[in-house]
Amino acid sequence: MGSQRNFEPRKIRSPFVNASALNGLSRCVHCGLCVPHCPTFQVLRTETDAPRGRIHLMGALVEGRVGPSPVLREHLDLCLLCRHCEEVCPSGVPFSPAMEEVRRFLIRRGGVWAKLRVEAMRALLHPLAGISLWALGNIGALGYPLLPLMGRLLPSLAFLAAYLPHPQGAPSRKGSLLARPTGRPKGRAAILVGCVMPYLFPQTHRATVSLLALAGYEVVAPLGQTCCGALFAHMGSTDTAKHLARRNIDAFLKEKPDVIVVNAAGCGAMLKEYPRLLQEDEEYLGKARQVAALTRDVTELLAQSLPPPQGTLRAIATYQDPCHLAHVQKVRQPPRQLLRMIPQLQLIEMESPDTCCGGAGLYPIFHPAVARAIARHRLEAVLATGAQMVVTANPGCTLALSAATKLWAPNLKVMHVVDVVWQAWRKGAKHRHV
Ligand code: SF4
Ligand code: SF4
Repeated sequence: MGSQRNFEPRKIRSPFVNASALNGLSRCVHCGLCVPHCPTFQVLRTETDAPRGRIHLMGALVEGRVGPSPVLREHLDLCLLCRHCEEVCPSGVPFSPAMEEVRRFLIRRGGVWAKLRVEAMRALLHPLAGISLWALGNIGALGYPLLPLMGRLLPSLAFLAAYLPHPQGAPSRKGSLLARPTGRPKGRAAILVGCVMPYLFPQTHRATVSLLALAGYEVVAPLGQTCCGALFAHMGSTDTAKHLARRNIDAFLKEKPDVIVVNAAGCGAMLKEYPRLLQEDEEYLGKARQVAALTRDVTELLAQSLPPPQGTLRAIATYQDPCHLAHVQKVRQPPRQLLRMIPQLQLIEMESPDTCCGGAGLYPIFHPAVARAIARHRLEAVLATGAQMVVTANPGCTLALSAATKLWAPNLKVMHVVDVVWQAWRKGAKHRHV
């Protein structure tokens, strides 16, 4: 790979490729510093499944030196868009806009499978799909004890089965007012409900609302909001992502919030990147910038404003940085600060806590064997700390790590940081919320 030539944007053959999204690839100097951080390289050990190799493949594809063969599609498709490569790259190669654009191009170039996946993702946005997932999660929980045995017989299938969580309580709701703080509110916080969180992690939404009220915020969940669009953007379905972004921008700005709060790292990163998504939309670019400026991860807001809980949690915990919180939003300390606030909770750092755990949207459905290998790799780092609990801040990471623990470490708990803090609060303090 050291002798590969640089990608040249002027050689892009297809009129369907937006060259500006790919220009930055020419900055790659093939140093390879990104390679060891790539989760797919860590488990597959092939250059074509590492960022430097993928940059080479993307360049060759759009210049027309190679065609969109199934093998090339597979190497590009295996990228989780975790963006670790972007963060460590000394040349500032903007990897993700290029990958999203190339995936958009591949859908146009007859990717039937890619189109089907976009349709599957669209179907997931329907409330009936959410309710079905919620019901499946509740029924599937009965079979957890069988998963380790199934994992020995049918490893990939068992990993997929282990993926579905056991939702705690009824699906969470949208509505104009969810909580009012005691006393004069510090501000009005509008929360992003998201597409799967209300069904798979309703308890995390309820904990988020309760903690925001304790931190002094009036909490609203604007009606009219929808999926943030991140998974569509990552798949290359850019038009759908833009459509969803415009709907969210209208819904959130109508509520005139002081802050927009997100408890899913991938969705928060998307809202903060709406200006990039809508950079060519004259009508919405200004509004996209307003939304981005107002958006905070829930841990950023709580670390600044939540009083310490009085309740204790006697446990050893380790924290897994969600990729889109650490590498994109650069939020690393607030979740740790929140965990350190909890009396008797001991936080131990694992090796490379910001390495991807494989929980990237529908990735485990389309690449169960690789997702399983990545999750297992991460679990080994967690187990090496001796922790009894692994805490994260994103539903995708919670799903991936939980699937791994159900198969290989059933006594290890996986929790969202908000659920951990709320547990400590519930144990130790009186509160009031609507
Ligand atoms: S670190 Fe950056 S410049 Fe070096 S190979 Fe990776 S993408 Fe290219
Ligand atoms: S985004 Fe993540 S998975 Fe994709 S090439 Fe970069 S490091 Fe690897």
